[in-house]
Amino acid sequence: MVYSTLGRTGIKVSRVGFGGIPIQQLNQNNVDAIIDKCLEMGINFFDTARGYTVSEGLLGNSFYGRRKDIYIATKSGVRDRDSMLRDVEISLKELRTDYIDLYQLHNVGSPEELNRTLRDDGAYKALRQLKDEGVVKHIGITSHKEEVIEKALETDMFETIQFPLNVVERQGEYLFERAYEKNVGTIAMKPIAGGAIRDAQGALKFILDNPHLTVAIPGMDSVEQVIQNSQAANMPLTKEEKESLEKEARELGQTFCRRCGYCLPCPEGIDIPMMFLMEGYYTRYDLKDWARERYATQDKNASHCAKCGNCEELCPYELPIMDMLDKVDAIFGS
Ligand code: SF4
Ligand code: SF4
Repeated sequence: MVYSTLGRTGIKVSRVGFGGIPIQQLNQNNVDAIIDKCLEMGINFFDTARGYTVSEGLLGNSFYGRRKDIYIATKSGVRDRDSMLRDVEISLKELRTDYIDLYQLHNVGSPEELNRTLRDDGAYKALRQLKDEGVVKHIGITSHKEEVIEKALETDMFETIQFPLNVVERQGEYLFERAYEKNVGTIAMKPIAGGAIRDAQGALKFILDNPHLTVAIPGMDSVEQVIQNSQAANMPLTKEEKESLEKEARELGQTFCRRCGYCLPCPEGIDIPMMFLMEGYYTRYDLKDWARERYATQDKNASHCAKCGNCEELCPYELPIMDMLDKVDAIFGS
């Protein structure tokens, strides 16, 4: 494993960290095995969120007894002071710890929303108070909007930023550079583009090649993925690999699902990212039979969409999910 300093926090983190979204589907034994493998491979930075349902609790149980070997990052989407004080207390309980290494404002959607968190009754004030008390060691911010991170960097009040960065989504590269120059730690979310790129290990190598990136946090839900992703930290990216990944990224465009799960739950019970994953396997990975079989095992599929539009309001990428599901239905529904 390769380690890097997370900006002004001063903590030394593995360049491949752990994203805590996918473990929501797993049981405690599976998560324990994954965390054991992470520690064995040298991963020491784990990112989760209040919003990832059972993720904090599962990780907290796995971490118990070895807290000193681990840096925990979590986050909350609340925006007012009292709610943040309450959420940090819940995080501490779920994670079975008495301090959080990095607490982040989660998915701030606009500069106005950021301003709200910075007011006297805002969420940032709660984190600042908890930092003074030693409960929260460092404060960060996550967003999908460039203008939010720009503004956050201007305020100089955050020790880390977290933003999407992968071979397909490179629009934020300048933010990583700007943060790096200010000694703000940089965390890449969705580093393998939600599995949309065929060569996941190559995709990870691609962004680890960026000198302004401190740590990438791919979501992992199997021991095999932990091994594969950890190895990427020690492997150089060849010119041929780089060109091939850039070609695939150009073909993929921007209208694709990153599997963040923010659109869930669907009131009709459709596992929306799973629909697009199966479509990707069918159209890009050339695993047609396998994709059909997996699709057939879903209780609810694209044909059950009631067009309520909830998911489109929640998708940070503003994807035309309903139209995209129609396409999935056209492929598998016949
Ligand atoms: S538009 Fe369809 S997929 Fe989206 S939340 Fe509504 S029913 Fe579910
Ligand atoms: S459709 Fe949008 S919100 Fe839902 S998982 Fe994909 S990228 Fe995330």
